[in-house]
Amino acid sequence: MRTAYEIVIIGGGPAGMTAALYACRARTKVLLVEKALCGGQVLVADTIENFPGFPEGIKGPDLAEWMFKQASHFGLEVKTAEVSGVELKSGAKDGFKVRLQEGPVLEALSLIIATGAGWNKLNIPGEQKLTGRGVSYCATCDGPLFKGKDVAVIGGGDTALEDAIFLTKFARKVTVVHRRDKLRATKILQERAFANKRIEFVLDSVAVEIKGTDRVETVVVKDVKTEKVSEVRADAVFMLVGTTPNSQIVKSLVKTDEKGCILADDDMKTSVEGIFACGDVRKKLLRQVVTATGDGATAAFSAEHYVEGLI
Ligand code: NAP
Repeated sequence: MRTAYEIVIIGGGPAGMTAALYACRARTKVLLVEKALCGGQVLVADTIENFPGFPEGIKGPDLAEWMFKQASHFGLEVKTAEVSGVELKSGAKDGFKVRLQEGPVLEALSLIIATGAGWNKLNIPGEQKLTGRGVSYCATCDGPLFKGKDVAVIGGGDTALEDAIFLTKFARKVTVVHRRDKLRATKILQERAFANKRIEFVLDSVAVEIKGTDRVETVVVKDVKTEKVSEVRADAVFMLVGTTPNSQIVKSLVKTDEKGCILADDDMKTSVEGIFACGDVRKKLLRQVVTATGDGATAAFSAEHYVEGLI
């Protein structure tokens, strides 16, 4: 049987890079496929305060770079390409074919799916038209463009509050619009956001439209209790309303939940023998860098043992 790789890891965020680190140290023949720069969502995180070992916190891009360097130090091979699909090869335990948007078909005895999650859209009027013209899904990328301006943040989770606090470094005022009267974000972020004089909250409200001729001018919000509609003046609006798992490439193969999160057990095994899943793409309680790295280590260990059993 001619198989190019023992393990192909798809996705180069913290889960994928940690899986790669472990697989390289286990001396397996491993390839990591990533469509962009390795780092995933960490690349656009300003400061990460809850990854152990960094008492002052660490800049997201720095952590991504160090993870990459660490795996590279042990001989990591990376292919920059977008995976378009994954197939089982003919016989049982024959392994998998990984199809790329461009380039040769890859073959692997086992796969580690570490494709993470993508930012949700609200799909409200004006959102698409004004994307890149004030509508943004990344505060770290676009926040510095709005120095001295008024901006809005939609959402009440960790990302929304962390980014609202980050945006106060530049913006004159940050209005957080959240659909309930209770925030989902962790308490320490809530305390900081409530104490920040530049942040205002519009609670129990949903954004229903984004208005602007060439650029964002206002966000139309509706109070969900009173149904009253009002407008929040903003030069930019950051849509931070959660994520959806990037599981499309294996959705027809492995079991997922109703949201598309891959079901994997404690050993990161999915419903298909030889396919492992780790990080934000899998169904789990806590989506953090620290849990993604733990998942990645386990996935690599499991894949390595799976491959050993085959050869
Ligand atoms: P999230 O935790 O899923 O929060 C999404 C927020 O958007 C929620 O407040 C939700 O409201 C709101 N929302 C969702 N759909 C909406 C809609 N259609 N209209 C209006 N509002 C809507 O997502 P996240 O904040 O991006 O975080 C993703 C994961 O990464 C989480 O597990 C989070 O803990 C983690 N994370 C951790 C850190 C950190 O530890 N420092 C930083 C960032 C992210 P409801 O609350 O009403 O559902």
